[in-house]
Amino acid sequence: MSHLFPTYNRWELELVSGKGTVVKDGEGRTYLDFISGIAVCNLGHSPEVVKEAVKEQLEKVWHVSNLFPITAQEEVGGLLTEHTDLEAVFFCNSGAEANEAAIKLAKKHTGKTKILTFKQSFHGRTFATMSATGQEKVHSGFGPLAPSFDYLPYNDESALEGIKGDEIAAIMVEIIQGEGGVIPGTTAFLKAVEAKCREWGALLIVDEVQTGIGRTGRPFAYQHHDLNPDIVTAAKGLGSGFPVGAMIGKEALTASFSPGTHGSTFGGNPLAMAAAKATLETIFVPSFLQEVEDKGAYFMKELKDKLSAHNVSIRGNGLMIGIGLESEAGGIITDLRENGLLTLPAGPKVIRLLPPLTVSREEIDQAVAKVEEALGKATAVV
Ligand SMILES: *Cc1c(COP(=O)(O)O)cnc(C)c1O
Repeated sequence: MSHLFPTYNRWELELVSGKGTVVKDGEGRTYLDFISGIAVCNLGHSPEVVKEAVKEQLEKVWHVSNLFPITAQEEVGGLLTEHTDLEAVFFCNSGAEANEAAIKLAKKHTGKTKILTFKQSFHGRTFATMSATGQEKVHSGFGPLAPSFDYLPYNDESALEGIKGDEIAAIMVEIIQGEGGVIPGTTAFLKAVEAKCREWGALLIVDEVQTGIGRTGRPFAYQHHDLNPDIVTAAKGLGSGFPVGAMIGKEALTASFSPGTHGSTFGGNPLAMAAAKATLETIFVPSFLQEVEDKGAYFMKELKDKLSAHNVSIRGNGLMIGIGLESEAGGIITDLRENGLLTLPAGPKVIRLLPPLTVSREEIDQAVAKVEEALGKATAVV
């Protein structure tokens, strides 16, 4: 038997090397990677700037503990706060840990106990973040869940009415629900969520673990909606594949995370900071972000044009795109893989496309042609 817990249904395809958007399997077959390690390899595979930064740090010191000052944390913290309306960062190792920090901080800071999240949301697999996730299949077998989360319907302003606000510490929301099916939040809905937070004295926590780090053509996706969150969480793309997460918050919250209240042995370690610094210095540049926005718009338009004969819903923002189908997506995703394009499901009926932000227009054209072909084949069979 395998030596591993079977927590993942793995594809029979081991990727042994990668450069840019292209990855290679053990038999030398190449694929266009429109998964990017699930929105992680935003600079493509093996980006030189990140590789060089990590190598350089590797020669100096790998790990020292947060008992010591780590200058690179200040530098990455500076990049994150400069590109948000926030002032302070806590570094950890994953998206779930960033959300854990946010949940703890919101309770401590407000002195209140309840957190509202949304149906079909995804916030992580630790006990608290699993409990925050609004999907029964994620909770199954693990009850009773961590108190106290309530799940409201997403994109439904009316569901926010009639709630007793005095126990609510925070509302945690994704700007585009990723795992839940690539569902973009509307500005009206997101602004209504923010207004309720203000009315109730609750914190607005935006989970940007998937949508952040330039994925939608802005440093963070909330910046498309004129929001002013109290806390933003990031991870996936932050270190270009090096494990690192961050919770970024308002200065007023810093007093609630005093020494001894929270911590992480590895969080913000020098190697992770070297990777994050090189990543952010490349992505948080106006011309780079403009390219992401332009390529995303081009990709979306090409998909809409080329797939117009099919009954599909194409949605997303920047280079986070979902193709909603009327039937199961699994067969088409397998077909695409066999035809050299790696894509991801998001729920049972959605094909999710998350290419590296460095993807070329030619690669987008190739991907669109493969999707068109796969959908054509699927309809022909029916
Ligand atoms: C992936 C994801 C997480 C969990 O991140 P991990 O690094 O796997 O813990 C949390 N929230 C969102 C929106 C995600 O997409």
